[in-house]
Amino acid sequence: MHTDVLIVGAGPVGLFQVFELGLLGVSCHLVDPLARPGGQCVELYADKPIYDIPGLPMCTGQELVDRLLTQIKPFAAPFHGGQLVTQVQTLEAPSGSETDTPPHPSAPRFRVTTAQGLVFEVKAVVLACGVGAFLPRPLASAGLDSWLGRGVFYGPIQEHIAHRHPHRVWVVGGDEAALNEALQSVEALKSQSKTSNAAFAEPPEVTLIHRREQLDAPRVLIEHFERVRESSLKHDAHGVKLQFLHGQITAFEGSGEQGAGTPMGGFAQPLMQLQWVDASAQTHLAGVDMVSVNLGLSPQLGPLAEWGLAMKKKQIPVSTDDFATDIPGVFAVGDINTYPGKKKLILSGFHEATLAAYGIAKLVFKTDKIPFEYTTASPRLHARLGVEPKRLA
Ligand SMILES: Cc1cc2nc3c(=O)[nH]c(=O)nc-3n(C[C@H](O)[C@H](O)[C@H](O)COP(=O)(O)OP(=O)(O)OC[C@H]3O[C@@H](n4cnc5c(N)ncnc54)[C@H](O)[C@@H]3O)c2cc1C
Repeated sequence: MHTDVLIVGAGPVGLFQVFELGLLGVSCHLVDPLARPGGQCVELYADKPIYDIPGLPMCTGQELVDRLLTQIKPFAAPFHGGQLVTQVQTLEAPSGSETDTPPHPSAPRFRVTTAQGLVFEVKAVVLACGVGAFLPRPLASAGLDSWLGRGVFYGPIQEHIAHRHPHRVWVVGGDEAALNEALQSVEALKSQSKTSNAAFAEPPEVTLIHRREQLDAPRVLIEHFERVRESSLKHDAHGVKLQFLHGQITAFEGSGEQGAGTPMGGFAQPLMQLQWVDASAQTHLAGVDMVSVNLGLSPQLGPLAEWGLAMKKKQIPVSTDDFATDIPGVFAVGDINTYPGKKKLILSGFHEATLAAYGIAKLVFKTDKIPFEYTTASPRLHARLGVEPKRLA
């Protein structure tokens, strides 16, 4: 994909970066490993109040992100969710030209690649990576790696259930997402068993396993889970057994080879053997076809540390003129950067995104003369925003 700028990270600052670039006529795409934009505001405090956004006496994390998404709509910047940027590569200038100057203004300077296989060629990169990529917290169990993507998945498994027809599903975790996953799996297995001809001695089952006895979810959801669990034990023709285990998976047995690309519904034998330990340290074995791991998300700096940028205590030093890093064409805004007096605040990130946009526009348009205009008065900005200015009486 070709665009002027790639913004790595769709937290509040990455979103506002879209706005500031759009005002200056610079196009961009956004990437984030999360399926939805919002960064810390949505993942860590979606329903908590924020009081220090100028002009907004109070809004929740989710409300702020919703407002930012509305504000950037006119610029239609594509958002690529579920994409972790793993590589930022500087493209070589052809021999005979200056090393940091591409031969033509429209020539890209960087190739950016994601772990999921997207490739972007861009003129500038903005790192708006916050405190790191929000990635699923890993399950530490022996032998798990060879089953990843075969029988074990991080997060939602509804698509995999529809595709592979498992009979015995385990969900690891005890939060809202884990409970919802278990309940949705019950529904998916129910509708599957209504249409399946496969004969099994036992009814299909969904098992929620959590290392604590207490579940960490809203009370109404826990009560609903309990009701479904109790009624599932009174098994009817299309019943799916739902159970809750207090314990931890310690090991996955086997190599995972047999899981590759095979449908599971026809198999009377379980795909995997799990070892799990209960609260009294007793070890058990269980046959399972599919596992969904839901242990929450944790920010990980990950690949960013390997892109050759100068780093200071896991942050990227920048110039406060335009928030450029030590690699020409790469900018860093928001929580990921550092400079004297830096404060990890959303409003600081908004200011940084504004000055970075001017630095980037100079590079993209190859001029030092980027017009400075007010949104109240500039017809050009009104056209970019798609608005008719309202005249004050
Ligand atoms: C509980 C809590 C309360 C807070 N309250 C306030 C407050 O009241 N006021 C205030 O101003 N600030 C507050 N903050 C701080 C504020 O949330 C941060 O300053 C702000 O979120 C920073 O925004 P950002 O866009 O720089 O980074 P983030 O919000 O962290 O977003 C960064 C995004 O980049 C993505 N990313 C990282 N690496 C990659 C990669 N390699 N590839 C693709 N994507 C990547 C991440 O997945 C993430 O979505 C609070 C923070 C917390 C934790």
